Amino acid sequence: MIPKLQVEAIQNGSVIDHIPAQQGIKILKFFKLAQANAKITVGLNLNKNNGQRKDLIKVENTFINDEQANQLALFAPDATINLIENFKVVNKFKVQLPEAFVDVLVCPNSNCITHNEPVKTKFYVNKRQQLKLKCHYCEKSFDHSFFNELD
Ligand SMILES: [Zn+2]
Repeated sequence: MIPKLQVEAIQNGSVIDHIPAQQGIKILKFFKLAQANAKITVGLNLNKNNGQRKDLIKVENTFINDEQANQLALFAPDATINLIENFKVVNKFKVQLPEAFVDVLVCPNSNCITHNEPVKTKFYVNKRQQLKLKCHYCEKSFDHSFFNELD
């Protein structure tokens, strides 16, 4: 079944739906999606059935895998990913918080070794504590909003 979307359908690719309003642009920047070769359509402040607003991102000819999808959870914990083939949804799943974020976040601790050594950053997710992230290297914990507000 093809979900009702408010932006033009794509033939093949991924649709990231149910992104909280204002987070769509951050996700594009954060994952450098806009710099990739893929054709991208973004819907901002779309109406949801419940009167709230959401953002939506379509990436043509790119199939987002579980790992990539889970990194979106930092910005959009309730996002759903629709994989489209030949205009049909062939797979649909919700993002889930990963065990760790690897090589996608910069440590907010300016004394952390990751700022000077060529290592991949790694943060463990503490799911019990409302999304606190702990740096593998300096072992400091940070609230997820630290990362969320980075420009
Ligand atoms: Zn650190």
